[in-house]
Amino acid sequence: MDAEIIAVGSEMLSGGRVDTNSLFLTGELNNLGVEVVTKCVIGDDRERLADAVHRAFARSAIVILSGGLGPTEDDITREAVAQALDRRLVYRAEIAEALARRFAQARRQMAEVNKRQAFLIEGAALLPNDRGTAPGQWVEESGRVVMLLPGPPYELKAMFERQCLPRLARMVPHQAIRTLFLRVAGMAESDLDQLVAPVYKKYENPVTTILAANSDIQIHLRARCATEAQADALLAEVAGPMELLLGDRLYSRNGDPLEVVVGDLLRKQRATVSVAESCTGGMLGERFTAAAGSSDYFLGGFITYTNAMKVELLGVPPEMLAEFGAVSREIAEAMALGARRRTGSTYALAVTGVAGPDSGGESAPVGTAYVAIADASGTQVVHRRFLSDRTRVRVFTTQMALDLLRRRIKVG
Ligand code: ATP
Ligand code: MG
Repeated sequence: MDAEIIAVGSEMLSGGRVDTNSLFLTGELNNLGVEVVTKCVIGDDRERLADAVHRAFARSAIVILSGGLGPTEDDITREAVAQALDRRLVYRAEIAEALARRFAQARRQMAEVNKRQAFLIEGAALLPNDRGTAPGQWVEESGRVVMLLPGPPYELKAMFERQCLPRLARMVPHQAIRTLFLRVAGMAESDLDQLVAPVYKKYENPVTTILAANSDIQIHLRARCATEAQADALLAEVAGPMELLLGDRLYSRNGDPLEVVVGDLLRKQRATVSVAESCTGGMLGERFTAAAGSSDYFLGGFITYTNAMKVELLGVPPEMLAEFGAVSREIAEAMALGARRRTGSTYALAVTGVAGPDSGGESAPVGTAYVAIADASGTQVVHRRFLSDRTRVRVFTTQMALDLLRRRIKVG
């Protein structure tokens, strides 16, 4: 069964406010096994809204509207839905009386305009609102439904959970939805897709999506089946071959970010890590310490932006800096050795590069990054050039450093 969500309100089209109600509703519907196929925001315009409702209801069995149920002229949801469904609006005195009682309890006089909220679409069930004045409505037609819910999230959530979910559960055939997140490091999105598409293209269920953000790629698999066991089996059937293809580029099967995965590996090994950072200015240390319990393995680090600090804090020889330049394989290595020597950590990671936008000269164009790792068995340096902006170059570089450590621990 498919659903569409329509958020009503011009305020969400002016850049000031975000439609969060649809995120909540989508999560709840997915839990029921209902797929949200379309969502949109419509301003306070009756004709446009009626048109959108009409089209949504023709396509999808469940249409949910949020907002526009207030008492003022610009609250047009009731009228628009009535028009779309070709039904009348009926004044219900008992709704007006309940509203008047609510105002009386708050020692306030009900304004005449509030009576607009007492109009119910013909044949609709009333959804009382104990958190606000706008009642909701549930309109059913030959096994399909349109819901009108209030805009304020605090009101909408309670109404949906208490009154709509039980009704929906009776309407929707039971389905189990299970998801699997595979996270991958060190690959471009297009390369990844080329690699795994032959596996997932064969299946409509599960639905596979590939999301890329900041050099972190996630493969989302969502299976819908009659039972959870069937959904899990289907996920395993599709994920298995993908995992084989991905090999050690796959770093997480449960959604954990790289810093958490690396932290767990360090903890298991009873190993420690320190960092020496130039172009990332502390970002790498920030990522390590973002993981709860990182004091088990993260000793600390050095932010050595200038050459003088690299010499002073890490003991990098000044003549090496003069010979190779700060952004070089040799200096990355010397920084990692320095950090390890001065902290006594099992592993030390060092980062030096040019985040941009200004170039570091011929030998080091913008986006250049060197990451070095040092441990008891020696050092290793990786070199990349990221064609991106300053922020992303820095994030990519931290990802590359964490992944270098992950691979080193796995091998060791
Ligand atoms: P009210 O009786 O409060 O006017 P209403 O049903 O008419 O209720 P709106 O006027 O559309 O609701 O919205 C009231 C407030 O609720 C908005 O100012 C906004 O803060 C919040 N809101 C509305 N729609 C959404 C949405 N889709 N996501 C998150 N917040 C929303
Ligand atoms: Mg309103």
